[in-house]
Amino acid sequence: MVAQVIDGKAFAAKVRAQVADQVAKLKEENGITPGLAVVLVGEDPASQVYVRSKGKQTVEVGMNSYEHKLDVDTSEDDLLALIDKLNNDPAVHGILVQLPLPKHLNEDLVINSIDPAKDVDGFHISNVGLLGTGQKSMVPCTPLGCLMMLRDHHGSLSGMDAVVIGRSNIVGKPMAQLLLGDSCTVTIAHSRTKDLPDVVRRADIVVAAVGRPEMVPGDWIKEGATVIDVGINRIERDGKNKLVGDVDYASAAERAGAITPVPGGVGPMTIACLLANTLTACCRANSLPEPEGLTA
Ligand code: NAD
Repeated sequence: MVAQVIDGKAFAAKVRAQVADQVAKLKEENGITPGLAVVLVGEDPASQVYVRSKGKQTVEVGMNSYEHKLDVDTSEDDLLALIDKLNNDPAVHGILVQLPLPKHLNEDLVINSIDPAKDVDGFHISNVGLLGTGQKSMVPCTPLGCLMMLRDHHGSLSGMDAVVIGRSNIVGKPMAQLLLGDSCTVTIAHSRTKDLPDVVRRADIVVAAVGRPEMVPGDWIKEGATVIDVGINRIERDGKNKLVGDVDYASAAERAGAITPVPGGVGPMTIACLLANTLTACCRANSLPEPEGLTA
């Protein structure tokens, strides 16, 4: 079997176009422009790239982008004061604090100071609890993107065996909750899982979120399974820098029914889902119907 490639770049463009349409409608019919505030503390180069990209895409879909760049030695009190201001600003519908934060700042405290209704990253403890109990919440962007691609490919996921490799709070755990919410039978595998190959071989859906280059070889993949590769790993091969996922793409693509490439799979979906979440937050704040197909 040669796998169908799930094109995350094209899918993300479609999501952004849907968001842009809805934003235009909101402006025209309700006079409301969704706004996303992004807070960056310090000068981590990767974070600067992400923040720039988020700001650019926010503006491209017609939303307002508010960037707050703070010095690396900003105090916790000053950061909390800014978040409080954004929580109370009616023009701001989504707030994202770029992680990781400098070591002297308590990430949990900072994230949990964001108004849960504006927590477009879905990391606030209230949103984690709401998702875990199957209630309406803000859903972390990367797992939401994976879910959208899976629904698009399969329609219903009900009854499918899904294995999520990785149990992080930002990818693995929320991904498992979302799959459970769509009535999959879910296994969460991690670094202590016994016989990981055997666990993965049972799966109709494999989501790999580990951060180890090409650790899942093709012969772990059940014939016809759908493989979602969240991993982003920079490696050097043949003297060149290369991005690879957690799955060995070449061998997995020979057995899978469908697979996301790296790059161009899950990656582009993350910011598209951030924009979708900001739109959702804006609609909820204004008691308007939520955009269809853009939420969990
Ligand atoms: P993390 O380091 O927080 O978690 C990794 C998880 O993998 C842990 O739960 C650990 O138990 C598990 N693990 C480690 N070694 C293992 C092994 N040998 N076998 C099975 N499980 C093992 O990482 P994360 O933040 O969840 O990110 C995972 C990957 O996804 C990284 O490559 C990251 O760059 C990528 N990522 C991509 C996006 C995106 O937008 N595409 C977003 C977030 C993370």
